[in-house]
Amino acid sequence: MTVQPIRLFGDPVLRTPADPVVDFDVELRKLVADLTDTMREQNGAGLAAPQLGVGLRVFAFDVDDVLGHLVNPVLEFPDAEEQDGPEGCLSIPGLYFDTKRRQNVIAKGFNGYGDPVQFVGTGLMARCVQHETDHLDGVLFVDRLDPDGRKEAMKAIRQADWYDPTTPPTVKLNPHAVGSPFGLGR
Ligand SMILES: [Zn+2]
Repeated sequence: MTVQPIRLFGDPVLRTPADPVVDFDVELRKLVADLTDTMREQNGAGLAAPQLGVGLRVFAFDVDDVLGHLVNPVLEFPDAEEQDGPEGCLSIPGLYFDTKRRQNVIAKGFNGYGDPVQFVGTGLMARCVQHETDHLDGVLFVDRLDPDGRKEAMKAIRQADWYDPTTPPTVKLNPHAVGSPFGLGR
């Protein structure tokens, strides 16, 4: 077994953008195996490397009986169609909130041997790869909620039995905004 402990909301590693994979070596393939085994043990639809404390751009997925992984993913959206439905995260266990996502996605990247891969995802698969790619940018699905939904989610997280208040929660109000954490330097 290579099941690893999953980092929970509040752990800074979940807020740290991950680095691109450079070496497609045996260590990478071990990471893919750990991600896959841990995801399956937890009955998850996907798991990204930062959730195991590893800052590399890799995730595994298991959606509609399609099991796979993607290294250095790049997503493209062929149209503007959206979906709205319940989403959860193994780093925010037991909590689900309706989250808007794109309905269709073209996912490009590499497998663990460095071979280019590309696939089209719709519905749940599209939701999964958007969620997991967000993880690689330090973004969590609660960041994608509207202000009321985010407020509700934060309240539920603070009340969750797994939540450790000694690690301060951070919610990025705008994942695309880049600025000094102290509001200085402009
Ligand atoms: Zn997640």
